Amino acid sequence: MRIIVCMKQMADGSFNPFDTSALECALQLMPDQITLLTMGRPEAASWLEELTRLGPVDAVLLSDMAFAGSDTLATSYVLSCWLRRETYDLILCGRQSIDGETAQVGPELAAMLGLELVPRVMGAKTEGRHLICKTRTGHIRTGFPALLTVERAWDIRFPCLFAQKGKLQIMSAENLGADPARCGLMGSPTQVIRSCENTGGRRNCQMIAPRDICKIIRKALEKNEDGFCKIQNAEEKSEEKLPFLWITDPVLETVAGRLAKQVYLVPLDLTENKTLSKEQLHSFAELVRRSNPPAVLFPSDWRSRYAASAVAALLETGLCADCTALSVEGGELHMIRPAFSGSLTAIIRCRTRPAMATVRTLESKEETLILSVGKGAVSCKKQILEWADRCQGAVTATRACVENGEFSYEEQVGLTGRNVSPKVYVALGISGAVHHIVGMECSGTVIAVNLDPEAPIFRYADYGICCDITEFCRHILSLTDTAEK
Ligand SMILES: Cc1cc2nc3c(=O)[nH]c(=O)nc-3n(C[C@H](O)[C@H](O)[C@H](O)COP(=O)(O)OP(=O)(O)OC[C@H]3O[C@@H](n4cnc5c(N)ncnc54)[C@H](O)[C@@H]3O)c2cc1C
Repeated sequence: MRIIVCMKQMADGSFNPFDTSALECALQLMPDQITLLTMGRPEAASWLEELTRLGPVDAVLLSDMAFAGSDTLATSYVLSCWLRRETYDLILCGRQSIDGETAQVGPELAAMLGLELVPRVMGAKTEGRHLICKTRTGHIRTGFPALLTVERAWDIRFPCLFAQKGKLQIMSAENLGADPARCGLMGSPTQVIRSCENTGGRRNCQMIAPRDICKIIRKALEKNEDGFCKIQNAEEKSEEKLPFLWITDPVLETVAGRLAKQVYLVPLDLTENKTLSKEQLHSFAELVRRSNPPAVLFPSDWRSRYAASAVAALLETGLCADCTALSVEGGELHMIRPAFSGSLTAIIRCRTRPAMATVRTLESKEETLILSVGKGAVSCKKQILEWADRCQGAVTATRACVENGEFSYEEQVGLTGRNVSPKVYVALGISGAVHHIVGMECSGTVIAVNLDPEAPIFRYADYGICCDITEFCRHILSLTDTAEK
């Protein structure tokens, strides 16, 4: 068995942790040969060589100035140029990179190469001529060849002291026979028009005493004021309209109605625990090709994102991931999304037709009160759950708490989790990293409890309580106790 592991080098020189997890997954399958594949700068060579000391026989670095500035489609194209010349049983990609966060390259590659895709793998073992994959949504059995996108489920091993380096091959666009018109900045259908600092979500925080919190929550809940949806507000400014566009889910109707004179709903068959088959993806792409809409919008749940990536690859068009706002300017769709982990907002256009986007909308879950747990409040999880029970609040968490196993991924709020907009959001022991803020900044009233008076979360809160979480929980439970009696 031969496994190819696709790896991306980050700007600081390290490799994407999802990809190193994919490499460890490959090593544990103990194939006859592992080959590492990277498209990147020449500096990646020494890193790749170092990684071959873990076991891969060889590494291939696709490096050329012509590849610079590639978007996901151009990247997938360059990788596919090399992969088409090779034989292999499995391709492993990390689920996503931690800088771009699009999760598009894996599904785009699978569509380009006509491979079966197994998404979000957390465990894998061979069983005769098959591979049994444990995924986030259950077990999947696949034949060979296939492409797996791998979760951060494995920690990469250390090399043995005397381990030898494998062979490294560096290939240019010419060596690959890649079409220059499909590589790099010029070959990328999506283009960044401009980017600006993301200062959204800031509020004037009023510091209060713990005893005031119940009164404030009650008042905020009584107000007939919901959280707001940034994306829907943003389009109100858009006066120009496209003649028509396609959406794949009714949840996008309001958004699309502000962008186009006519909106066609063409639903994808994405029922629970299902991704689309190759045949379904091809027939959807064919439908789009024949109708030639100026834009197709998908929701940003992971199944729709995988489907959108595959369809974009089949149509060779641009796809912008996880848009938080959209507008129409000069007759074309402008897609706005967080970049550089949310610190910047980028405005993106697509120079091919249709422009495709996955769009962040607020979930239909009607949570009016959310108690959100950060690393600083994990020690009081039990008390917070009890408080949530008493006040009928929902509980969510930061990525730090999901990564340490205290909460499930479904409970994570933020850039890589859910978008929420309850009437009241109580941030407990949360520092206020921009990655978290982008998922909750549309909440009605925000109350933050933190020990550190300088914690950034206070800049995004309407009310702040500066105290230790244990003391706060003791206080709040005694207050609600009295109220119950
Ligand atoms: C690409 C990328 C994507 C990411 N996506 C997300 C995402 O979707 N969602 C997300 O949440 N994060 C995300 N993160 C992580 C994010 O950057 C932060 O690391 C994370 O939000 C921090 O979680 P936290 O606030 O719980 O922990 P910390 O940053 O460790 O903060 C803990 C806070 O608790 C306070 N505290 C400590 N002890 C007490 C006490 N006894 N009483 C009261 N307060 C106390 C501290 O003062 C501190 O402010 C992402 C990161 C990256 C790089």
